[in-house]
Amino acid sequence: MRYISTRGQAPALNFEDVLLAGLATDGGLYVPENLPRFTQEEIASWAGLPYHELAFNVMRPFVTGSISDADFRSILEETYGVFAHQAVAPLRQLAGNEWVLELFHGPTLAFKDFALQLLGRLLDHFLMKRGERVVIMGATSGDTGSAAIEGCRRCENVDIFILHPHNRVSEVQRRQMTTIMGENIHNIAVEGNFDDCQEMVKDSFADQSFLKGTRLVAVNSINWARIMAQIVYYFHAALQLGGPARSMAFSVPTGNFGDIFAGYLARNMGLPISQLIVATNRNDILHRFMSGNQYDKDTLHPSLSPSMDIMVSSNFERLLFDLHGRNGQLVGKLMAEFKQSGKLSVEAERWTEARRLFDSLAVDDEQTCATIAEVFRDSGELLDPHTAIGVHAARECRRSMSTPMITLGTAHPVKFPEAVIKSGVGQEPALPAHLADLFEREEKYTVLANQLQDVQSFVAAHGNRGKPL
Ligand SMILES: *Cc1c(COP(=O)(O)O)cnc(C)c1O
Repeated sequence: MRYISTRGQAPALNFEDVLLAGLATDGGLYVPENLPRFTQEEIASWAGLPYHELAFNVMRPFVTGSISDADFRSILEETYGVFAHQAVAPLRQLAGNEWVLELFHGPTLAFKDFALQLLGRLLDHFLMKRGERVVIMGATSGDTGSAAIEGCRRCENVDIFILHPHNRVSEVQRRQMTTIMGENIHNIAVEGNFDDCQEMVKDSFADQSFLKGTRLVAVNSINWARIMAQIVYYFHAALQLGGPARSMAFSVPTGNFGDIFAGYLARNMGLPISQLIVATNRNDILHRFMSGNQYDKDTLHPSLSPSMDIMVSSNFERLLFDLHGRNGQLVGKLMAEFKQSGKLSVEAERWTEARRLFDSLAVDDEQTCATIAEVFRDSGELLDPHTAIGVHAARECRRSMSTPMITLGTAHPVKFPEAVIKSGVGQEPALPAHLADLFEREEKYTVLANQLQDVQSFVAAHGNRGKPL
């Protein structure tokens, strides 16, 4: 499989190089040159497979030529073996024909484990083969950092540096990062805010001379491997509920358009999906596009669902590429205009095309808490605020009552106790058994000034398993 850039100017790469590349050299995002397509019979024959075997069937076409079937199988078995639930991604029924797909049984209790557990192992596999080491740098306001650290903790050939804003992430989220010990794991608490952290990471990618030739790798959701891994659970959910013989609808709590883009790809690969609902919080740039063809940058509004607090959605460009007949030049022009003006809209026919599949809703904090309370009262399930946004949007936007409606349960409620307490259900979520002692564990992190120089010197001094590069 070869991958091409959404802006059409960068060289096509194979899977291994895409995994290591992150952003394309023309500023675009990598997408498969040709999307694999499965027949209904083929998909139906996967019913009842363990998660890792289904994952092999779904993802195999994306990696052929880069990794042997045997190696890929064993990596997948190990990856999904670390999940705390036998079903890996169990479905829970909320109401008649309405379900939540629980994607929070991985090590860090959010769906990002599905991709980052795999990404860490794939990276190590390819780096071992090449005899190379890399440095990962990422900025986090919460979920991504812990999932990335958990995914890379056992990687022989990766040193990972995660920047978080000092004293500005929740205690659960901080501890999920800082209690993972390893000579290749480095938590940096920056005396600044999340944007400062992100800016430093961006600047480090732009000028990598401080790394003395070591390659820098990105693990944010623009990395193709993350999208790829997320396609699998759409197939998994549909197969549990009578797919592909019947269609499904999905509601997806969305920030960067990564998770829902994976659902869009699942549909284009042959899985019957009749509706995809984009569920946002107050940071609703995607809702404004889907409802009115206006993708306009707004200011950031902090919310009770912080993992979806974004101003622009980095993966949206991948959808734009398809909406424009995969014309990279057109997309490059659109994105250049967006960079200038902060505004983007597409031709009416293209927008109508998107609306055939997508609906959307923006859900505020009050509605989020009300949904947590309502679902708890009616079914006994305690939702995290992101999942609650998905459920609320599912109920408001549903096109058909006879089509199963599946909301992606993106995080465990214990990660976001503030929203749960505000909802007044009178119950605080408890840590699952494998994290029960989180508050007793030893923490390790380094506080650094809000100075690019200081951060880069730290990385250079510790980037080789704690030793200088
Ligand atoms: C990252 C995250 C999201 C948003 O996912 P995108 O792929 O950026 O759309 C939603 N919910 C939770 C809990 C997350 O951690």
